[in-house]
Amino acid sequence: MPTEPNRAMNNSIPQTHRIILPPNDLGYSYDPHVEAGLHGAIKLSPKVLRHCQCGGKSPFMIIDPLRGEPVWCPCYPFRRKKYRIDKYIQKSGIPAPFRFKFARDFKEQYDDGQPIPGARLLKSYFSTLVDNINSKKTSIKGFYLWGAPGRGKTFFAYILLNELIFRFVRSGKFIALSKSFHELRHTFDEGSETQGQAMPMIEMLSNVPFLVIDDFGVQRNTEWEMEILYNLIDARYANRRLTFVTTNQKVDDLKDLAQGRIYSRLLEMSHIIHVTGHDFRELGNPEAKWIEPR
Ligand SMILES: [Zn+2]
Repeated sequence: MPTEPNRAMNNSIPQTHRIILPPNDLGYSYDPHVEAGLHGAIKLSPKVLRHCQCGGKSPFMIIDPLRGEPVWCPCYPFRRKKYRIDKYIQKSGIPAPFRFKFARDFKEQYDDGQPIPGARLLKSYFSTLVDNINSKKTSIKGFYLWGAPGRGKTFFAYILLNELIFRFVRSGKFIALSKSFHELRHTFDEGSETQGQAMPMIEMLSNVPFLVIDDFGVQRNTEWEMEILYNLIDARYANRRLTFVTTNQKVDDLKDLAQGRIYSRLLEMSHIIHVTGHDFRELGNPEAKWIEPR
């Protein structure tokens, strides 16, 4: 992986060198066909490349003719985004075969051409979410997506997280709760390589902009785990961080956990979505589309 472009960027780009992009151009796109290990590559958009004067050579600087000094090339902010997206997706916890999977990889039809009933709704949920983040709405909800195994919940969560990181260039984490508890417990073991790291781990999970908690199961959890879980959910609620849960359990099954505090927080932060068969429905109102995150 190349070295990270320097952080001090926008300020030192002269106004005249900034690239104004049309609304549908992020300045980069994903090309799945480039051979680069398991997946493709992020490419700069043609408009950015047309404005690039450094030829893509590190440190991506050019000599400003007016000042006679080195300044960042107009391509620079986009090269930095590209670098950060790669890094965030590598570190997201998404398993390698599912990295760089996007909404276009979520099929709307079975192989025989029949539509998959839930797929359209999931896509519209996603585009509404993106619009709401773009328009900086203040109380955007994540989801609590529940149903029997094998309904595509986890795959959808992978896609969602890839898309959010890719579009907004912010970090995201995908965790399985039982594994995270195991790792946390390990930090208390004498001589373990993560000894004493519990607080940084919890801090990170409390603050990461996008968090997916996959396979949220609660039957065998201890009181200590429930307290950690409540603190995590509560911190994310207070910090207005988007949280997405997939699980086999009805949200009502959580009523008794941590004196009902986990349940009430999740209800405030989430759209409760039931997956039945290949259908995705908002709980309690099966006719309603569940696409209006507020
Ligand atoms: Zn350049």
